Amino acid sequence: MSGRVATTGSAGITAGIRLAEYTTSRVGGPAAGWVAAGSAEKATEAIRSIDAAGTPLLILGGGSNTLMADAGFPGTVVQLAFRGVEVLKETGESVHVRMAAGQDWDEAVAWTVAQGLTGLEALSGIPGSAGATPVQNVGAYGSDISRTLVSVQAWDRQAGELVELSHEDLRFGYRDSVIKRSMLDSTPRWVVLSVDFRLHRSGSIAPVRFAQLAQALGVDEGESAPLETVRHQVLRLRAGKGMVLDAQDQDTWSTGSFFTNPILPASVRAHLPGDAPAYGAGQDEDGEKLVKLSAAWLIDRAGFGKGFGLGPDEQAIAGARASLSTKHTLAVTNRGHASTADLLAIARTVRDGVEAQWGVRLHPEPVLVGCVL
Ligand SMILES: Cc1cc2nc3c(=O)[nH]c(=O)nc-3n(C[C@H](O)[C@H](O)[C@H](O)COP(=O)(O)OP(=O)(O)OC[C@H]3O[C@@H](n4cnc5c(N)ncnc54)[C@H](O)[C@@H]3O)c2cc1C
Repeated sequence: MSGRVATTGSAGITAGIRLAEYTTSRVGGPAAGWVAAGSAEKATEAIRSIDAAGTPLLILGGGSNTLMADAGFPGTVVQLAFRGVEVLKETGESVHVRMAAGQDWDEAVAWTVAQGLTGLEALSGIPGSAGATPVQNVGAYGSDISRTLVSVQAWDRQAGELVELSHEDLRFGYRDSVIKRSMLDSTPRWVVLSVDFRLHRSGSIAPVRFAQLAQALGVDEGESAPLETVRHQVLRLRAGKGMVLDAQDQDTWSTGSFFTNPILPASVRAHLPGDAPAYGAGQDEDGEKLVKLSAAWLIDRAGFGKGFGLGPDEQAIAGARASLSTKHTLAVTNRGHASTADLLAIARTVRDGVEAQWGVRLHPEPVLVGCVL
């Protein structure tokens, strides 16, 4: 953390920490206040007092799904810095595991795989904390955490009490949950303190639910493969797309996918070329069939290829401070000296270009703090 001017006040609040040092896009100005909470109790105490003072609060895990304003954050950031994974109960093949909110997610997944526990392996390599996974129902390679999550223990800022939210309470959707929908000024009503999963001892084999992964493993989709090998192949596939954090690889200096895949009435297909990927996504409340489109395909075929960047006058150029990843059109990346404004300019150009070309509006996946697209 070189170059920052940080001072610690009497309430354990540090001032002057640059958010760019705590986000995977490596952008964001200073936070007015910063509390590194080393336990769930410390986090709750800090949140209570910040809320009581009526000042802005931002909860931060690994900063991998948050885009911070260049101006910084005018309130206090509470960083959830408490870790741990424990087995709560084992009944037959079913193993109940609890993870602390600040626990590094991929380390926890690696631990479950090493224990021969099936259920989280397809979510290998996703950056960030365990506590943030229910916020947007983190998912990849045909899985998401709603498949194994049992409940979360959380601080309810509105009621001012500790609560347990069940899987049903969380009302998961695609990259969505009740927690994400409760976001008010970048901070949810419920702050997750720990997450419980039900995993399986299934002889170290795991089902494979994604065509590309199945192909890499040499099995058919729906078949099983050795658990360790599934994790290994997921990490390999992700690294090839710049989706595993690597300080040396600027294609990973991002928030991962910048846009969610649009879910729209199936009639949208009539306006798209026949080769546009569209997957069945259930029905809406009126019984109309829905399809999930590929945001990456829409972006690429609207003329924004890998590495697309903008110059100072917002004209497309090579070697820009910010660009789409050179490995994947869904990630907006910092090439070393980008600002949040640079990243947003790329995202805005892409969003508007896709809408002009296909009539489909893309929506951002990361939480934008103090800035708008
Ligand atoms: C290279 C890369 C690849 C990625 N790949 C994927 C992927 O495959 N699938 C996927 O779903 N996501 C992916 N992401 C996005 C991101 O990693 C996940 O959303 C992750 O769960 C965010 O965790 P975090 O701790 O970094 O969250 P943060 O960025 O710290 O926080 C995100 C939001 O959640 C809130 N929050 C954080 N912790 C808590 C808590 N304990 N309680 C309540 N609110 C909280 C924050 O206030 C903020 O609004 C990727 C990101 C990157 C950079």
